[in-house]
Amino acid sequence: MSAPNARRRREIRAELAERDGARCWYCATPAGPDALTIDHLIPQSRLRTWLLAALVLACAPCNEAKADTLPQALLRPAPGRFGPGLVPAGAPAA
Ligand SMILES: [Zn+2]
Repeated sequence: MSAPNARRRREIRAELAERDGARCWYCATPAGPDALTIDHLIPQSRLRTWLLAALVLACAPCNEAKADTLPQALLRPAPGRFGPGLVPAGAPAA
């Protein structure tokens, strides 16, 4: 899939802002969708896709810091965050 043109990238940013909110996926800094960048969760060098499921909005500093690395450390929950069944730690038993 070839890279989308500027018009389509603007549409993608608006769709991601609708889905996730108009903020950076990583640091949660709010910004208008046109002030955020499109980040490939899995770097394009490893997975060449523009499917929305593979994309998030990121501020420029976060996108530059992430660069070409896999976001495994960001995606992996902090130890102790969940119990078995993805129950948040500290939640009362059902
Ligand atoms: Zn950020």
